[in-house]
Amino acid sequence: MAAKRPIIRLKPREGRRVRAGAPWAFSNEITMDAAVKALPPGTEVQLADEGGAVIGAGYFNPKSLIAIRLLAPPETKIDRDFFVGKFRRALGLRTRFFDRPFYRLVHAEGDGLPGLVVDRFDETCVVQVTTAGMERLTDTMLDALDAAAAPQNVILRNDTPSRALEGLDSYVRAAKGAAPERLAVEENGARYFADPKGGQKSGWYYDQRDNRLALAQLAKGARLLDAYCYSGGFGVLAAKHGASEATLVDSSEPALKLAAEAAEANGVAARCRFVKSDAFEALERFAREEKKFDVVVCDPPPFAPSRKDVEAGARAYRRLARMASAIVAPGGFLMLASCSYNVSRERFALECAAGIGRSGRHAALIREAGAGTDHPAHPMLPESAYLKALTYALD
Ligand code: SAH
Repeated sequence: MAAKRPIIRLKPREGRRVRAGAPWAFSNEITMDAAVKALPPGTEVQLADEGGAVIGAGYFNPKSLIAIRLLAPPETKIDRDFFVGKFRRALGLRTRFFDRPFYRLVHAEGDGLPGLVVDRFDETCVVQVTTAGMERLTDTMLDALDAAAAPQNVILRNDTPSRALEGLDSYVRAAKGAAPERLAVEENGARYFADPKGGQKSGWYYDQRDNRLALAQLAKGARLLDAYCYSGGFGVLAAKHGASEATLVDSSEPALKLAAEAAEANGVAARCRFVKSDAFEALERFAREEKKFDVVVCDPPPFAPSRKDVEAGARAYRRLARMASAIVAPGGFLMLASCSYNVSRERFALECAAGIGRSGRHAALIREAGAGTDHPAHPMLPESAYLKALTYALD
């Protein structure tokens, strides 16, 4: 079977990253003759160099800029056993770090499975397939997930916008068991709620787990602002750790509703207040009212979702840093996060520093972090380490 895969060759001197071990080959790096172009999206292929030496096995999509994603060494069969092996390895890594079954179980390239994300909420797995190649392998993959993790419910949350780039349709369905309206999340000793069908992404952002705890450790007795709070990840934990008052701002009504329920479930509702607003407008309003916060966290949606947005995104991060630092009380703390993989750590840190400076504040960078251990990065793919979270102590 492995031998029957079509072979696609790199152009001479192209594909520097994939030759060095990265799992992606871009469409401009490979020889696209008529036969290659005619391959259906998601076809399993072998990638070879210009001399014919095979680099690896993966899948191909003529419609995608990332034309080939590699999964395995050349002769590997991509079958149930292949997936079971990957899932067991991924599970082993998570159970080493987490006592309770709430984590990202599969983080795409970081776990050797491009095009696949699995978030686990106890007995329920929320699965996101983002490429044509993984879509074609879905039945085998789900069979293997069952063998490795035996979840009661499996929800296919295949409505990410990036699927359109792969020529895939958008759908959400239960692949096994039921698709509950609401899932409980346990994290850092707090209890939250996620909507696995209608919420953003899988319903929960596990990537900020460690950063939520780091922020909570600054929260005792503090007036805290959680801008872009989603379902309360930062704000509710901070209140549980003793914030005197927590203000949670988001533009999404359903997200705020879940945040309010989380506050209730953790016994901190009396110290939390929820504001439905654009975050920039809220920051402006607080500044006008001369309202100060001892701790502020800003965790916006990606300001640079694609490469062409990098400059505009960078300006938005700078503006957010400026406006947020303006309302931090003297001696307070500010955490700024970015999940734009198109904006590097260095660039993000530069924009944050410039924004803080422009508000006339002096700051010390006291913590620099990314996503938690359940979001492993592919070492040759800086894009897979997309999350940045910088914490500053302000004068
Ligand atoms: N901090 C959250 C995750 C934030 S995700 C956590 O810990 O889980 C980004 C959030 O920004 C989403 O909840 C989204 O609804 C919200 N959002 C998007 N645009 C916004 C805007 N202009 N103003 C306020 N919130 C916005």
